Amino acid sequence: MSWLHRAKKGVRIQRTAEKKELPEGMWTKCPGCSDIVYRVELDKNLWVCTRCSYHFPLNAHQYVDVLTDAGTFEETFRNITSLDPLNFRDAKEKYRIKLKKTMLRTNLTEAVLTGRARLHGRPIVLGVFDFSFLGGSMGSAVGEKIARAGLDALERHSPLIVLSRSGGARMHESVLSLMQMAKTSAVLAKLHEARVPFISVMSNPTTGGVSASFASLGDVNLAEPHAQIGFAGPRVIRETINQELPPGFQTAEFVQECGFVDLIVSRGEMRSVLHRLLCFLCGSEQEEKMLKPEVEEPPVAEEAPTREADPTPSPPDVLGTPDETTREIGLHGPA
Ligand SMILES: [Zn+2]
Repeated sequence: MSWLHRAKKGVRIQRTAEKKELPEGMWTKCPGCSDIVYRVELDKNLWVCTRCSYHFPLNAHQYVDVLTDAGTFEETFRNITSLDPLNFRDAKEKYRIKLKKTMLRTNLTEAVLTGRARLHGRPIVLGVFDFSFLGGSMGSAVGEKIARAGLDALERHSPLIVLSRSGGARMHESVLSLMQMAKTSAVLAKLHEARVPFISVMSNPTTGGVSASFASLGDVNLAEPHAQIGFAGPRVIRETINQELPPGFQTAEFVQECGFVDLIVSRGEMRSVLHRLLCFLCGSEQEEKMLKPEVEEPPVAEEAPTREADPTPSPPDVLGTPDETTREIGLHGPA
């Protein structure tokens, strides 16, 4: 038997390694249908697979392009970044070193990008998470930025839209991260009182402290198809309750059936759906202008009352000045 020797001569040997070679960066494999997809085609289709509708993950700037009118986004609160009050160090390195490295790699100062923009001509205040920044985790600076974006929306009477893509609270900041859940929720209560709409968009994944606070507090809660939405991960739940979980557990479709999500919207339709919702919630642009309170100019009083003269000190503003867990850095990016 010629196991090791070819019986017939002249058989062409195909070198599979050579055959698979593709121009680098032009093609990518779709995790949904395992097809090889042309990246240019994907880019044109907002990174949604044309064969199986798998939504590829996007970074914060890509999401801003998807959600807003071209060239209208102005970043705000870029100068807010986390301090490291716990002097935390994980198995590899110090938190503050990791933070600086991540800033340089992502060109972001925190896991959420906030700003003002227009959507079909309507002014909005926007917050977009970036998962590549420490898993989109919410530390004190992320909470502060979301809170300030909310206050900005309140002041301008513009709707607030936050696209979440986060693993939850930032472990490196321990309980300080958990406090951000209360802080962001408190701002949303202020928006609610002032009848300024807040729309939450949940992308894949939205879990932990983010899903348990502002992401689920929208006047309307939207989600991208098949996005994982939940609190603890499925493995933790399975091991805790010692039972098999139903199929599709924690997908957007599953949680929609439970009433947690109002609408599942594909990426290509997100902008038009958001616009329709804003028209519904705020009325037409003319109506919105009529409802918008005119910003009163502060009176130029010659004898302004001083703080010392006031016997009853004003209550501390829960959301006012940045606390000792965040800091403001120079406006030219990470130090
Ligand atoms: Zn696909």
